[in-house]
Amino acid sequence: MTDAWKKSLTWIREKLSGQVFDTWFAPISTAHFQNDKVVLEVPNSFFKEWITNNYIELIKEAVFIESGNRLGVDIIVGETTDTAAASQSVERASVVPLPTRPISEYQARLNPKYTFANFIVGASNQLPHAASMAIATHIGTRFNPLFIYGGVGLGKTHLLHAIGNQVLSMRPSSRICYLSSEEFMNEFVASLRTNKMDSFRRKFRKSCDVLLIDDIQFIAGKDGTQDEFFHTFNALYEENKQIVLTSDKYPQEIPDLEERLRSRFQWGLIADIQVPEMETRLAILKRKAEDERIPLPDDVALFLATSIKTNVRELEGSLINLAAHASLDNRPIDLDFATQTLKKVVALHETALSVDGIQNAVCKHFNVNMDDLTGSKRHRSIAFPRQVAMYLCRKGLNSSYPEIGSSFGGKDHTTALAACRKIEKQVKEDAAVRGKVEALERLLGF
Ligand code: ADP
Ligand code: MG
Repeated sequence: MTDAWKKSLTWIREKLSGQVFDTWFAPISTAHFQNDKVVLEVPNSFFKEWITNNYIELIKEAVFIESGNRLGVDIIVGETTDTAAASQSVERASVVPLPTRPISEYQARLNPKYTFANFIVGASNQLPHAASMAIATHIGTRFNPLFIYGGVGLGKTHLLHAIGNQVLSMRPSSRICYLSSEEFMNEFVASLRTNKMDSFRRKFRKSCDVLLIDDIQFIAGKDGTQDEFFHTFNALYEENKQIVLTSDKYPQEIPDLEERLRSRFQWGLIADIQVPEMETRLAILKRKAEDERIPLPDDVALFLATSIKTNVRELEGSLINLAAHASLDNRPIDLDFATQTLKKVVALHETALSVDGIQNAVCKHFNVNMDDLTGSKRHRSIAFPRQVAMYLCRKGLNSSYPEIGSSFGGKDHTTALAACRKIEKQVKEDAAVRGKVEALERLLGF
């Protein structure tokens, strides 16, 4: 290995935990510099995918700092180490259709891996999925805008790409702009600075059939960007172009969002994506294992799906992590191995949070009983702990308001929303409340 790479590795080591470094960087078998790239050889395709998804930018930065050159990074699967995985990645590469015509900057951003075909549908995501399918076939005429909201790692970005991919497959000439609201903002600011607002506006207002904006909540509080987005929205809407937005919050809950945007976000359909139920988690895991050709016994799948409940990205991550460890240790994935390897992750999820855990902790702390906490008494001595518990469910579990309402004796989502808002405000303004809430958070390991 070259000195520059060794130095880069040392730099990377400082940035990561020992365990992460040992898992993903120690196994890099060779590295060489080739023209304007650094080529890294990894044991198998899991490594390739993992490093590509998580560490490419870090590697680029390290190489830049240590070699002084801005280089690309190529990750290749070592032929000698894992021929099966290597041939698999070749096979996969060969089925990716080559673009037959130049594709625009934003079409190129669509991730072909995220499709409707590999999105598993269950009660938790049925509405956003159905709405996404409907608008992909009826651009601009069904629900406009479609506003998908829900917690982290639950498939919002996946659905957004799936819409883009589906529209493109049916109408290849469609002009699809996919970008995050942060990218929209950055581009807007850059265009302002370089006097290119005309082309910015042409691009988003006139040359776009489907505008897919991920994580729209980030434009809140950015006045210029909100204003520009407002006009973009209007221009597209009037032309019956489709707008789809995702957010981690319901429009009413996004702080510092301009009122006129808030109301527009509610013109079409608002679809809530929730934490998937057990069956859906299992199906997602099995599907992922199949796609990645990871042999996954049923009991291991069940173990993972029971242990990791609230985030599909983590669920998938744990599977890939398991497969990587199994292939490093050269042993099959069985329940024993899975429990050992994932002990850490699972422990985190177990001790950490659940609605029950939060409710119990709150009951103890305020000395109220569970029936009262989930009941409907309005006396402050009970209503306040209830509101705090709801707030903690929102903050710690990212539960949706309808979920919170139903966990507290079948209350309406507006009750949950009001409770969370109230406590949020009090935490800011009242030191005594803040103290209590923070003590509970520490207890629960937030
Ligand atoms: P979000 O944007 O909501 O944070 P993502 O769309 O990035 O979440 O999803 C995280 C990961 O979980 C992605 O790899 C995605 O493919 C996967 N995923 C989430 N929900 C599903 C589902 N219902 N079926 C298949 N994969 C899913
Ligand atoms: Mg996302």
